[in-house]
Amino acid sequence: MTDLDKPTNFIQQIISADLDAGRVNNVITRFPPEPNGYLHIGHAKSICLNFGLAAQYNGKCNLRFDDTNPEKEDQAFVDAITADVKWLGFDWEGDACYASNYFDQLYTWAQYLIGENKAYVCELNAEEMREYRGTLTETGTNSPYRERSAEESLSLLEKMRDGKVDEGAMTLRAKIDMASANINLRDPVLYRIKKMAHQRTGDKWNIYPSYDFAHGQEDAIEGVSHSICTLEFAANRPLYDWFTANLPLPSVPKQYEFGRLNLNYTVMSKRKLKLLVDDNHVAGWDDPRMPTISGLRRRGVSAQAIRNFCDSLAVAKTDGIVDVAQFEHFIRDDLNVNAHRAMCVLKPLLLRLSNLEEGSCELFSAANHPNREELGSRHLNFSNKLFIDRADFSEDTTLSRKKFKRLVIGDYVRLRGAYIVRADEVIKDSTGNIVEVVGSIVPNTVGADAPEGIRPRGVIHWVDSATAVECTINLYDRLFKEAAPDEGNKNFLEHINPASLIRITGCKAESSLSDAAVGHHYQFEREGYFTRDSIEKDALVFNCTIGLRDNWKA
Ligand code: ATP
Ligand code: MG
Repeated sequence: MTDLDKPTNFIQQIISADLDAGRVNNVITRFPPEPNGYLHIGHAKSICLNFGLAAQYNGKCNLRFDDTNPEKEDQAFVDAITADVKWLGFDWEGDACYASNYFDQLYTWAQYLIGENKAYVCELNAEEMREYRGTLTETGTNSPYRERSAEESLSLLEKMRDGKVDEGAMTLRAKIDMASANINLRDPVLYRIKKMAHQRTGDKWNIYPSYDFAHGQEDAIEGVSHSICTLEFAANRPLYDWFTANLPLPSVPKQYEFGRLNLNYTVMSKRKLKLLVDDNHVAGWDDPRMPTISGLRRRGVSAQAIRNFCDSLAVAKTDGIVDVAQFEHFIRDDLNVNAHRAMCVLKPLLLRLSNLEEGSCELFSAANHPNREELGSRHLNFSNKLFIDRADFSEDTTLSRKKFKRLVIGDYVRLRGAYIVRADEVIKDSTGNIVEVVGSIVPNTVGADAPEGIRPRGVIHWVDSATAVECTINLYDRLFKEAAPDEGNKNFLEHINPASLIRITGCKAESSLSDAAVGHHYQFEREGYFTRDSIEKDALVFNCTIGLRDNWKA
């Protein structure tokens, strides 16, 4: 946790100054997702920032659903978002908040503005409204309905609410300034008609508040002291302040903006992620290739790694693109410390040890972690028939020891945690495929140095064939081939990496993995980090979270 005396980012500086000057006594922040999709790694930055500040200043952070648009929202998204924020390790006092809880209050404030001659019901249609609004270089024109009486506006607003006006025929607008240099202040819309049921308020409303009319007022109701949002809302801030100045609000919140998190090799907008899901480019919002929190979790990324990454990012006043390799660094760092070691052979090749008896069995103990004794150990069965990886064997005896630190006919390798073995001959099928390597152990080499004259080329992993469990492995690569798949007018769907998922069946895992629990992290020695898939639970399926080192080449 950051030292309170030395605020490090500009928002901490603002909060510390507000507390020092007595402008604020209690720090209250909020994380305000709209329940129209799943949370992604960008949201995680906002979650860590908002909940982190609340914890740092002994305040609180609300989880608030900004559910003002029933068209795209769904209870399923509410549930997924709630689960994701909890999984990330954050909690809020009491129930989650909902914009829809404040619909009555917002309506009363809309009536108040009309009464103050600061809002009116307008009958321009969408296209006319656009024409009247003007442009960045031309001022707007007053709506012909701008000067209608408060009584008339109040009665029309009631009709809109009661479903007696067609969609698109009327809006409620604030009366601010059609000549303002800031287009957001040119009589913005406060309510529009949507004859649509809401997931929480049912059929009660036929009008729904705009983001601008809702957001700051929600903050005020909840006593939010620092309302932190992303940079695209900077131009909305004068409007945010207009409402706090013109409404009898219970508190006066302030809005601050910071730069969004963008990662290369992915897309981050909910609209684009939804398209990937709806068009079946991925298997769902929680597909392990998605930058969603649920996808990352299913992929095997820990909540701690996400938090560490987010905390490492600058809270800046500009948007930036972060190299996904930086995120991967935090994922590996965390897994290296916390993942249990295990062995799994992806492309099995039988190794028969001719100087051990058929059916022989030895038990070795292997530490779950090379330098964390408290993580315990497990047993490895060792018999005369083992599996090694096809890529770890070669018949080519001319391969240099430096280039190929694996098993070669006539030479030695150490089997991780077990004997040194030598390869003696190969057995092939009629088509010339190697079906078995026949080798022999060097006795007394378990946990002991190689005897004089024997120099193993390297260490390889293995699995006992008699006790191995069969499993399927999903290997993932980046979802996009391009660093900036949605830059400019590129169609991001054209840059999907066709090899982003490779599924390998018939892999052989050590027996301790037969009851691998979902949510546990493993390092399969020499292969990478893996976790059991949470959806395909009946079969033994592991998802590769990330390789041991960065060997991705553009
Ligand atoms: P998207 O652009 O993905 O649809 P959004 O801003 O519409 O995102 P919301 O549900 O409104 O999604 O976002 C909730 C909160 O998360 C907001 O405060 C928003 O500013 C913040 N947020 C969204 N995306 C990012 C991001 N990439 N980096 C940081 N904060 C983000
Ligand atoms: Mg938004």
